[in-house]
Amino acid sequence: MPNRFCAICGKVISDADPHFGMCYDCYLKEKPLFDLPKRFSLNICIDCGSYSKKEVWIEPRDNELFPTINEAIHRFLLKNYLKKSNIEFSITFDEKSYIFSSKDLLNNLDIVVNGKMKENTNLKYQETINVNLNYLLCKNCSNIRGGTYYISIIQLRVKDETQFDLIDKALNEINKYVEKLFEKDQKHYISKIEDQKFGVDLYLSSNELMNYIIKLLRVKYYFLIKRTKKLIGRDIQKGKNLYRLKTLIKFLPIQKNDIVIIENEDFLIEKITKNKVFLRNRKNSKLIKNYSYFFNEKILKKKI
Ligand SMILES: [Zn+2]
Ligand SMILES: [Zn+2]
Repeated sequence: MPNRFCAICGKVISDADPHFGMCYDCYLKEKPLFDLPKRFSLNICIDCGSYSKKEVWIEPRDNELFPTINEAIHRFLLKNYLKKSNIEFSITFDEKSYIFSSKDLLNNLDIVVNGKMKENTNLKYQETINVNLNYLLCKNCSNIRGGTYYISIIQLRVKDETQFDLIDKALNEINKYVEKLFEKDQKHYISKIEDQKFGVDLYLSSNELMNYIIKLLRVKYYFLIKRTKKLIGRDIQKGKNLYRLKTLIKFLPIQKNDIVIIENEDFLIEKITKNKVFLRNRKNSKLIKNYSYFFNEKILKKKI
């Protein structure tokens, strides 16, 4: 039989290669067996070992860390592929990537997901996922530990679902920060994270923690902030009222270099400061708006 060649790279194709005029390498580049996110964030309860992606905590079958990660990856990332059951998966942990916290908790690692087609095991594919582990307290354990369930609340909100990534990113940073703080002082922790339609509510163990988190967010993000307090009782010993503090954080729905349409005119977002947004149109005239403008008015963002 005369040699056949890969249409893409020119390599000689063997009989074992798929019959698409391509070698396996090129075939898989065209059409990977699966597609997984590059990064994945998992919450682990520091007391009981339950895990969660968002607010629902799941008790793992095996209470060791690695089987728990394995179970979580299968449940959260591979579920749709497993339903079709045409790919066989295996997960390996890249020991060299392990990053530990000062308390010897594994914080971050790379896992390699290997998959092969069940009916044609020559078709193999692998992807590496960077897994971030956040150690928190699950609902139960925080109840058990705290006694006081929560003291303050931070509400993180975006304007619409196109900004959900922002919530994920901010939440990740908050988790990392709070975990570090918790290692130093166990008074500060997030006792509950509750999903809301356009964001999340964080139930916090202390008022200081609320302020620390606001400070943390101010470094990187632009938002409107609204603080409220609600009388929840009276501390008789100290002779003063007790309040529950709540902070609403509304992330600005635009960022620098976005182009927005205001009254049929294109404006470039030139600069964002602590409370103002500077825009410029094509005729080079300038416009300065408050943050609240972008929440109250219907602003169209141009996709670039
Ligand atoms: Zn090829
Ligand atoms: Zn727990």
